[in-house]
Amino acid sequence: EALGPTVTVGEILVEIMATTVGAGFLSPQPLVGPFASGAPAIFIDQVAQFGGAAGIVAAVGADDFGTLNVERLRTDGVDVSAVAIVPGKPTGSAFVRYRADGSRDFVYNITHSAAGDTSMTAAARTLIARGGHVHVMGSAFAIPGIGAVILEAVASIRARGGSVSFDPNIRKELAQGDEGRRLIDDMLAVTDLLLPSGDELLVAADAATEPAAIARLLDLGIGEVVLKRGSAGSSHFSRAFGRVDCPAFAVEEVDPTGAGDCFGAAYLTSRRAGLPPARALLYANAAGARTVTRQGPMEGVSSREDLERFIAAAGREVKQ
Ligand code: ATP
Ligand code: MG
Repeated sequence: EALGPTVTVGEILVEIMATTVGAGFLSPQPLVGPFASGAPAIFIDQVAQFGGAAGIVAAVGADDFGTLNVERLRTDGVDVSAVAIVPGKPTGSAFVRYRADGSRDFVYNITHSAAGDTSMTAAARTLIARGGHVHVMGSAFAIPGIGAVILEAVASIRARGGSVSFDPNIRKELAQGDEGRRLIDDMLAVTDLLLPSGDELLVAADAATEPAAIARLLDLGIGEVVLKRGSAGSSHFSRAFGRVDCPAFAVEEVDPTGAGDCFGAAYLTSRRAGLPPARALLYANAAGARTVTRQGPMEGVSSREDLERFIAAAGREVKQ
């Protein structure tokens, strides 16, 4: 990390969730929250908790939801100097209810919230000018106009020799349109580490099978592809190390939200610290597994020591 902190750009939200399983929000029901949330925020919090230098470019309202998030990130060690406080707009929010089949219904307030005003402020430029790595969350592209901010951050950090990771968790509607395709292609052209989950691999690579997708992505010049497989674990693919698989830890899933974000953060931060892929995968799987055992997207973030204890308790070790 000699080059500088890991930086991300995107939405900070609160999540408020239904305490019962069922369809949507068409009748009054018990809720729990607000929880700190937003995929980029979860990611960057986990980077800092793992021990990496971390900062975020984002925007919140001058309200309790914003304060809750900013104080949480600050306490956990994230540089929040580039989190703008937007007067007159509320902090973004997501109401979530799980259905019996595990799918989710959402009511979002993001585009018209403070998060919708995320822009390249002077504080953002200052943070990015110090950055050694930029992580891009596909979910952030739901904010109109944020593409220019993200691409400027990517160009600036690459120009000083920094690296780029991309989690293509892009909204389905966006991924299918021409604009979404262009965004994905623009990102793939500059990505060093790609972190897809499930079908995102095939969508990102525009391929029909996993091997074809991996071959195409490595041919594009992407250094590492790390595929998240939920309760089936994860796999690393690169020219340098070949294929490395890591089975999942056996845990009881309480709330899957945030697993992929914490996984990616632990993986990236391990690699930036110089650990080999097998060891980074073990930390990352442990981080994902611990996240799903806790209710609330950011409540399951782990320190490196938490992960080491968890790995040892499961009787796992790194095979080199
Ligand atoms: P998200 O819901 O945050 O978008 P994702 O789809 O990006 O998640 P997943 O593959 O669901 O990513 O989860 C990331 C990692 O977390 C997995 O590769 C695995 O290591 C771990 N993980 C997720 N779910 C479970 C589970 N039920 N049991 C054990 N480990 C899990
Ligand atoms: Mg994901």
